[in-house]
Amino acid sequence: MSETFTSVSQEEAGFRERARLSFDLDADICVIGAGLAGLSIALEAARLGASVAVLEGRHIGWNASGNQLGTVMPGFALPLAELIERIGFEDARELWTLSKEGAEFVRANATEENMPGIGPTDGVLEVSNVDAGDRLISRLQMLNEDFDTEAEGWQVDRVRAALKTDRYFHGVYYPKAFQVDGRKYVHGLAALARRAGARIFEDTPVVSIDHSGIRKRIVTPSARLRATHIVLAGNIHLGAPLRRLSETLLPVWRYAGITAPLGERVHEIIAFKGSVMDSDGVDHFRIVDGDRLMWESPETTWAARPQRFAGSVRRRIRSIFPQLGNVEITDMFGGATGQTVHGMPQIGQLRKGLWVASGFGRQGMNTSAMAGQMIARSILWGDERWKLFSPFELVWAGGTTGRVAGQLVGIWGRASSAAAGSLARYRERARVKDREREARLAEANRAAGTGPRRPPPGVRPRPAPPPKPVAEAVEPVPQDDSASR
Ligand SMILES: Cc1cc2nc3c(=O)[nH]c(=O)nc-3n(C[C@H](O)[C@H](O)[C@H](O)COP(=O)(O)OP(=O)(O)OC[C@H]3O[C@@H](n4cnc5c(N)ncnc54)[C@H](O)[C@@H]3O)c2cc1C
Repeated sequence: MSETFTSVSQEEAGFRERARLSFDLDADICVIGAGLAGLSIALEAARLGASVAVLEGRHIGWNASGNQLGTVMPGFALPLAELIERIGFEDARELWTLSKEGAEFVRANATEENMPGIGPTDGVLEVSNVDAGDRLISRLQMLNEDFDTEAEGWQVDRVRAALKTDRYFHGVYYPKAFQVDGRKYVHGLAALARRAGARIFEDTPVVSIDHSGIRKRIVTPSARLRATHIVLAGNIHLGAPLRRLSETLLPVWRYAGITAPLGERVHEIIAFKGSVMDSDGVDHFRIVDGDRLMWESPETTWAARPQRFAGSVRRRIRSIFPQLGNVEITDMFGGATGQTVHGMPQIGQLRKGLWVASGFGRQGMNTSAMAGQMIARSILWGDERWKLFSPFELVWAGGTTGRVAGQLVGIWGRASSAAAGSLARYRERARVKDREREARLAEANRAAGTGPRRPPPGVRPRPAPPPKPVAEAVEPVPQDDSASR
């Protein structure tokens, strides 16, 4: 196991010729897929002394892993309250601790020394689209006291001092969460894995596996490999080696854009350096390269060219920060995430020597790192903590029907989030008006030397006018370009 790593050179970071597997090979562990999951496993297993071969059908970071924002948070895509409800407090706490270890694995790898230009910075802010102060307090207590996670509650005023928009209410600030250049990290990881002794072959799709014997066989178009362990880390594209596994994932394509430089005004409007994400998982953004805005928003359940969504990202930015005007989007990227039915990743041993690490959804940085550590340690040290994931079985994601339902759920989620946000803002405006009215009334009473006027006995006070129905208060949900398909 190698403990010290030197920095990743330009060549190692991706600008080098791809090696394809063109000869038969024997290894302890064969990892299928060179995304975040596959490479984290390869790195950890190679550090622990195993001989590891990674087979990648296209190139390193080809899908989501090479096209993501690099925000590293504790926890999972499944909200903490739902995790506790599903498996109970104690197990949820253990899983949460593992997810934090995953984040620390990323932090230890993503240093400027190991990965020049990776730019790690601390602090992530999660903002609420609705006025949910009470819920926030109980969540903070739980995070700080029960889950040993530093989190700070921000009142509405503080959130709005940092983010000049009335869209967001309270916030939870995670001082120890962090971000790195998400598009570089996977290449840095590959370089570290190589340094530790793992061999990575690109343009090498696995077309079939025979996992029945002790030594398992892996077939690619140009060569064969034999290994004691196979780790399936192909996410939604795994295909032929175990098609039924791919069918347990709902593919969700996510897209992000980067604006042209916006100048100093962006810092006046967004005075927060780290990543910001809303509590409904709709928007996720931060300032990059000094004065550009990187913004992730739309999602689809079919593959589309990211460039098609530049308009959606632009409109989304304008709807949250109208002061920025019509920004120019100069770069779009995206990839497919694999979402499980239960919202938790698939980590574990399917049968002796056959492992799975996929379904990390939109929170793959810390969770794939955690999977890497757990699987490698289980293979090499007999660590059995991956069994904590057993309650989250492989459930069929519903094929095409599942995708359609997924898209509807996504649209419903966004629409209901927009509706809830509009309603919260409506209530806030109403409260301000009420306070102003009361102050005017009190002033008038003082001037007239009378107390508050009461209706004469037997006369019922006139009810306040009802609030506008939600439908009227709701602003139209920005439609993705894809809606016209
Ligand atoms: C726009 C966007 C922003 C995101 N932002 C964040 C973020 O800020 N923070 C965060 O935590 N997460 C984020 N995510 C989620 C994160 O990127 C994913 O969860 C993670 O990358 C999944 O990694 P993976 O290795 O499981 O899958 P993948 O990245 O899909 O990698 C799997 C690899 O396996 C290969 N493969 C598949 N089948 C075979 C085969 N048969 N033979 C050989 N190779 C095969 C594929 O070619 C692919 O390269 C984001 C995702 C997107 C799309």
